[in-house]
Amino acid sequence: MENVMTSSQHQTRACDFLVAGAGVAGICAALQAARLGLRTILVEKEMILGGNGGPNLGVGAHAAMSCNPYWNEMGIMEEIEEHINWRQARIFPTNFGYNIHPLWDEVVSSLLEDAGVRILRRHLVHDCSVENGIIRQVKLLNIENLDHVDVEIDGHVLDATGDAFVAQLAGAAWRMGRESRDETGERSAPRQADDVISTASVTALVVDSGRPCRFEPPPGTPPWNPEKPDNHFNPRQAIHFLWQVDEGGESETNHSLYTPQELYLRLVRRIYSVWNYLKNIKFPKEAENFQLVWISPILGRRESRRIEGDYLLTQNDIEACRGFDDAVAFGGSYLDEHLPSYDGGYEVQFYSRPLPYDIPFRCLYSRNIHNLFSGGRAVGVSHLAFTSTRLMRTGGAMGQAVAVAAKLCQDKGVTPRELARDHIQALQQTLLKNDAFIIGIANADPSDLARTARVTANSVAALSRAQVPGRFADARTGVAAAIFAYGQRVETVRFYLRNPHAATTVTGFLGYGETPPIELLPVPEFVHNAGTGRYEKVAREKPVAASPDAVLEGALNPTGTKGWDEYYRRVDNVTRFDVVASENRDVPAGFEGWVEFHLENPQPFPPFDRAKSGQAVVVGLSGEVEILTAAHLVDVVEGLVGGETGWKMDLAAVPVFGISPDPVPGKAENLVNGKPHREGRAALNQWMSDPYQRLPQWIELDLGSEKELHELLLRFDVTERLWADMYLIKGDRVAKRLVRDYHIDVFHQGCWAKLVDEKDNYRRFRRHALPAGTSGNKVRLTVDRVWDENQPARVYEVRVY
Ligand SMILES: Cc1cc2nc3c(=O)[nH]c(=O)nc-3n(C[C@H](O)[C@H](O)[C@H](O)COP(=O)(O)OP(=O)(O)OC[C@H]3O[C@@H](n4cnc5c(N)ncnc54)[C@H](O)[C@@H]3O)c2cc1C
Repeated sequence: MENVMTSSQHQTRACDFLVAGAGVAGICAALQAARLGLRTILVEKEMILGGNGGPNLGVGAHAAMSCNPYWNEMGIMEEIEEHINWRQARIFPTNFGYNIHPLWDEVVSSLLEDAGVRILRRHLVHDCSVENGIIRQVKLLNIENLDHVDVEIDGHVLDATGDAFVAQLAGAAWRMGRESRDETGERSAPRQADDVISTASVTALVVDSGRPCRFEPPPGTPPWNPEKPDNHFNPRQAIHFLWQVDEGGESETNHSLYTPQELYLRLVRRIYSVWNYLKNIKFPKEAENFQLVWISPILGRRESRRIEGDYLLTQNDIEACRGFDDAVAFGGSYLDEHLPSYDGGYEVQFYSRPLPYDIPFRCLYSRNIHNLFSGGRAVGVSHLAFTSTRLMRTGGAMGQAVAVAAKLCQDKGVTPRELARDHIQALQQTLLKNDAFIIGIANADPSDLARTARVTANSVAALSRAQVPGRFADARTGVAAAIFAYGQRVETVRFYLRNPHAATTVTGFLGYGETPPIELLPVPEFVHNAGTGRYEKVAREKPVAASPDAVLEGALNPTGTKGWDEYYRRVDNVTRFDVVASENRDVPAGFEGWVEFHLENPQPFPPFDRAKSGQAVVVGLSGEVEILTAAHLVDVVEGLVGGETGWKMDLAAVPVFGISPDPVPGKAENLVNGKPHREGRAALNQWMSDPYQRLPQWIELDLGSEKELHELLLRFDVTERLWADMYLIKGDRVAKRLVRDYHIDVFHQGCWAKLVDEKDNYRRFRRHALPAGTSGNKVRLTVDRVWDENQPARVYEVRVY
């Protein structure tokens, strides 16, 4: 038989953009780069794509959208999720979005291949040659047949291996472990730098097999420590992912990077251990029919090397919501750290839940290898900043940004550093055109004809409503509406009341409130104990000391009170406000109808501030009457209900009100204001048709004169208030509020011609190339159907080229 070792072949390839590692960062980058015309190679050592985010580990993709109302990272990451949901390549959408569906790889691969990406699976990046700080060649080993593939680099390399393997091979500067407080000034950094990193995990799946089944732990399975978190097993769910067990990270010799096999096997034993505990000890009856059917075939590494860029993003930047001129993406997930743990489940330290924050481009390339970009887990942020940037939707957005940067670097013949210095606007604008979102950056593309068009619609969503079907609520302790991003002086407000009692006096009021500032949780000191040889949390139960220094010393309260448990239940609203005007009105016995109040704010409301999650004008009423309430279909209004202990949010009980001036949040001009989405609760930035008129509804762009037309870009809305309401987690194939059927007509020489007729659309961002020779002076988009037929048309942007 032929000797495999001596039969290996040598091949040479060339590319503009080599992406090492097909986790979410690498996949988003490769897809974007190929779509922009770069010859792109994607190298992955495993057979299945996706890294931590693919079916080998199955973890769900979260970030700013999951933690903040109405945010959406958008871009390629969400496009992938749309295809996954539409193809139903999701095994079980709830349970934190874990997904090991075998079709995942098929869906993602076909997207990549359609774009022209050359995928090399089971290829390991194992060497590279560098000249004058530039990677000239990357050497791959085909793990299946030991062939060697040398890839000549005509442009750039993205290290998306998660572990910065390319950076290490190329001699790029990297770091690993925790920075000291002296270096970064971060409140949660240790006194001294060390090499502690977040733990690694494996995941597992248990299913209800429909009949009693036994589980006998393999010999030597350690007993589970019942004081440790045990995966919140819920026997009411037929399929259940055991989130993870964590280990490793506490010392260099125990980094998952260096001993992956040993660590993997230890973690598998932990899964046996926790499952034995859950099935046989904690839930012997409820888990009787449940069977352990799958353990992840790979070790889930959270953290390893980080490539040093020209800027190190820190916890301070994130918690202060600092803006950067070179922002190209954004994050917004918790700062939560998986500390090394020794005898059971996962130890998670929560530091804060930041508002969406900028990711500067200078964190996304190597400071000393001139054609090397960093992606995903390996970007240039501090250990503590990493605890938030590691999330997948952030990683995908950064990957997309890097791909656009690689294309511009090639076109302009500049290095990433020069691009950051001289061409950041070009980078931001190209990203926006490709469906990315950058906080505060609007479309300024001079070739987009829509920007100067006059826009009209046959209906728009206003705040004020004539009477709508609703239910009457007791107004004794107060019923109010919080209106976000109002911005104007209120003049009058009216409510629809019913008085089944004796004549009475009611109070109408106008208030202003803000969401409370983010809470910075006390910080434990996590230090090396020379006696045990381990890192341990100190002073765990001591009361919180008053001075910030003492807090940093390690006095803390147990942090288990904040965290994932609050993920869904978080009260994140304007439930405290100052009354700025009020008026009393008499309501006769037996009265039913509108009552108007003259409520003027003495001074203007504060302008929108991105460092606040929500700023709202509150209009409400209290008194011995009943007030008509109903869910409000315009997304800038939320309901508040007063009570003995204060105001609470109730989205279904918004008073039916009229307000003047009515700012018309869904106005037609929003379509061309350049903002591709709303920034959380800030202005809606979309055209929304009147929710009380039936579809079809249309919007028209008058271009002023006859223009040649080549391409139309459409951006619809899919974003629910919270991630928990999103189709991505609900198990729906498509977002309920998404436009389903639409058509586009162009007005040319006195008549309309239908050029696009789309049915069953499941995509938020659409590009339509128009037939060659198309010209016209008006473009009309008609929304014929939305997936939920009770919803209005919602369109964020139309671009015309
Ligand atoms: C257990 C666990 C739970 C998590 N939970 C969540 C969650 O709920 N939500 C969330 O958003 N994020 C979560 N994360 C974080 C998130 O999954 C990761 O940070 C993210 O997926 C990292 O993506 P990446 O593309 O940077 O790296 P990876 O996903 O690590 O991808 C790197 C890829 O590079 C390949 N590779 C490595 N070296 C080489 C080489 N030399 N040659 C070729 N290929 C190579 C790897 O095989 C891998 O496919 C979790 C992480 C873990 C471990």
